[in-house]
Amino acid sequence: MSRTVALIVAAGQGTRAGGTIPKQFAPLAGKPMLAHSHATLAAHPAIDSVLVVIGPGQEQLLSDTLGDAAFVIGGTTRRESVRNGLEALARQGDVARVLIHDAARPFLLPAVIDRLLAALNRVEGAVPALPVADTLARYDDAMGDTVSRDRLYRVQTPQAFAFDAALAAHRSWPQGVDATDDAQMVRDSGHVVTVVPGDPLLEKVTHAEDFASAERRHGSAMISRSAAGYDVHRFAEGEELWLGGILIPHDRGLSGHSDADVVLHAITDALLGTIAAGDIGMHFPPSDPQWRGAASGRFLEHAAELVAARGGIIDFVDCTIICEAPKIGPHREAIRAGVAGLLRLPVERISIKATTTERLGFTGRGEGMAAHAIATIRVPETSL
Ligand code: MG
Repeated sequence: MSRTVALIVAAGQGTRAGGTIPKQFAPLAGKPMLAHSHATLAAHPAIDSVLVVIGPGQEQLLSDTLGDAAFVIGGTTRRESVRNGLEALARQGDVARVLIHDAARPFLLPAVIDRLLAALNRVEGAVPALPVADTLARYDDAMGDTVSRDRLYRVQTPQAFAFDAALAAHRSWPQGVDATDDAQMVRDSGHVVTVVPGDPLLEKVTHAEDFASAERRHGSAMISRSAAGYDVHRFAEGEELWLGGILIPHDRGLSGHSDADVVLHAITDALLGTIAAGDIGMHFPPSDPQWRGAASGRFLEHAAELVAARGGIIDFVDCTIICEAPKIGPHREAIRAGVAGLLRLPVERISIKATTTERLGFTGRGEGMAAHAIATIRVPETSL
């Protein structure tokens, strides 16, 4: 057994006040709440796959949020939902470790995942937790005794377990008995569950009013980064012309090792630049035969995954295409939609512009095309 998988519990039916869709699918800090932690878990190098547990009838909401993400239908309680997820993973087989996460804790930093997985090398379970800072007191009509904060922690998710321990704990848990979380169940079945430092950003978004404070907390922890990308390809007879992942009808196409999509290459380099992750040639060397004729959408998706792996959000992408022909205007909206689709962003956050160079230079002579791009992202300062 070797795989490490993440299970996101997103089966709640509660909506944000004034909204009609369950809150895990409601927008928060630029994308649906569930998309935040899903992106971080999916992009983490130590996690092999992510399975989402959704409520019955939420299939369309999930596909609108995450495309063709793997999912399983949950039960009527959180415990049943987790159980359904664990049983689905058991049927897949080869699972060594599982991280069980609540979609209501959207802002998960990769460092928390690192700490949990490191702890799993020593014990069967690990949870992120924060010490209690406030005074705790009992209340019953009037203030009663205060409770010592000593060794009291607020437990967060993801909670990480040896898969067999988590599955056995769920299978043997008595019907009708309440369990506050998975860690309690694993601990009660005789395993050691340890605590690693949690993160204030991981705070749970429970009530409608939590949305605003979560956005503020998230916003204050994020810094903005912009970076540029530039690419050129030469025109050649008998080649296809791909721009933004869209096949453009033209008498000539661009030649290159991949599909020579000059728009996607410039945007890919801009995104890589925002996280100082080198350039497209470093990640996809032209000397590597596997990228011969490759669809460049793959390069762009990889760059977006690297941004997501750092907890980043893509705010805006702007690209200028430079050529005499073909005319870009008639294809502008298709190219925008193509880029937006690859990045899973609303089309409003993609800008495509075009210019000629007044018949000057290599673009003016129609020898090739160039593209400039600028990408702006927000990323947690602590992840850089
Ligand atoms: Mg290129």
